[in-house]
Amino acid sequence: MTQQQRSTAQWRELDAAHHLHPFTDTASLNEQGVRMITHADGIYLWDSEGNKITDGMAGLWCVNIGYGRKDLSEVAKRQMDELAYYNTFFKTSHPAVVELSRLLAEVAPTGFEHVFYTNSGSESVDTMIRMVRRYWDVKGKPQKKTLIGRWNGYHGSTIGGASLGGMSYMHEQGDLPIPGIAHIEQPWYYKHGKDMTPEEFGVAAARWLEDKILEIGADKVAAFVGEPIQGAGGVIIPPSTYWPEVERICRKYDILLVADEVICGFGRTGEWFGQQHFGFKPDIFTTAKGLSSGYLPIGAVFVGNDVAATLAAGGDFNHGFTYSGHPVAAAVAHANVQALRDEGIVQRVREETGPYMQQRWRETFSQFEHVDDVRGVGLIQAFTLVKDKAKRELFDNWGEMGTMCRDIFFGNNLIMRACGDHMVSAPPLVISKAEIDSMLGTAARSVETFEKKLRERGLA
Ligand code: PMP
Repeated sequence: MTQQQRSTAQWRELDAAHHLHPFTDTASLNEQGVRMITHADGIYLWDSEGNKITDGMAGLWCVNIGYGRKDLSEVAKRQMDELAYYNTFFKTSHPAVVELSRLLAEVAPTGFEHVFYTNSGSESVDTMIRMVRRYWDVKGKPQKKTLIGRWNGYHGSTIGGASLGGMSYMHEQGDLPIPGIAHIEQPWYYKHGKDMTPEEFGVAAARWLEDKILEIGADKVAAFVGEPIQGAGGVIIPPSTYWPEVERICRKYDILLVADEVICGFGRTGEWFGQQHFGFKPDIFTTAKGLSSGYLPIGAVFVGNDVAATLAAGGDFNHGFTYSGHPVAAAVAHANVQALRDEGIVQRVREETGPYMQQRWRETFSQFEHVDDVRGVGLIQAFTLVKDKAKRELFDNWGEMGTMCRDIFFGNNLIMRACGDHMVSAPPLVISKAEIDSMLGTAARSVETFEKKLRERGLA
């Protein structure tokens, strides 16, 4: 290790003194002290106290290939020695970015032969926003500017991404959303679909898009943007009828359809991309995370052939980043995507570990009194903590129970995330069946403890 060895207490003190954390109440964090993660392998993390922790979240839904792949670090070193950096702006390219682009065109659904590189999901989303508006400019319809997203959708933390996302607690800080953004309700069957079958609800929820388009005027709407499965919003999986109906509506009103595949992409659902699980065809889709399994920051916007041709016809697209197509990130992403494909990792999620997880997940959690809507696809799954299952009634103070439950999981050295009162999980795609069993055993014990605490506190 190149870092200096320090005690946990020293690290905590220095972290509190100098490091501002994302999405964090700094004062309260510094009072508690951080958990220092020092190394990782497969699906496991170790902290500075020597605890072995199961990472049921693949970092932030990104370490698809699992931790500790020495082949990826060797590729990074080789590329750094050969060409650590060059840009792709001024009539230049380099082998790493060309090879990655070719490979991505191979794994992408048909009709996606071009990619534009970024450094993160947020940058992919902001790039997409500018691209969509540019597309309509070139088409001679510059008034088509408004992008429609969904409440509780997450599209990043940049000004564009946070605006398009539907997290009101983000909008509250910094005068968001920016102009030209609208939102519709999320397709959350459990909450909004009470009197309908899931299939009926899927169509009804898609029609909210049509209502919004008619309200704004189709001549002013540029695109609809959605995560195939809303991730940070709590793993909201729309009924099978939703995406096909959304697609039909977008085509009817001549509106671009954009999938934000930052979480769903690169095998999370058992397909390469979430759109393939749901059977729809967007015009553009955004990615990051699983593209490099988080080993280095890189994102890519996949541009459909029609949009790519239109942008090309328009001359300069005045957009790009110093690190667009960074050689080291591109080389590592290439090795990662190749491994996900050639080692059959995505295929195994689709055929073996995904179905196994989904079956065991439902068996494990359906029995609990305060757990409902037990759901998932591939290796992304969730359940919701509820006050009354029979009445489908949620707890009053949304998020309080989730945090309490999440802390119990952490205490048992299993990382799952609370999104409000949704408990979500998305482990590395290399998780084995035995590891799934062990993870679910710990999870079940944690929920038992949670329900016991509820009773002790008179909350249930
Ligand atoms: N889009 C989606 C769907 C995401 O889940 C995220 C991150 N969780 C982002 C965009 C933003 O990605 P990043 O944090 O890499 O900027």
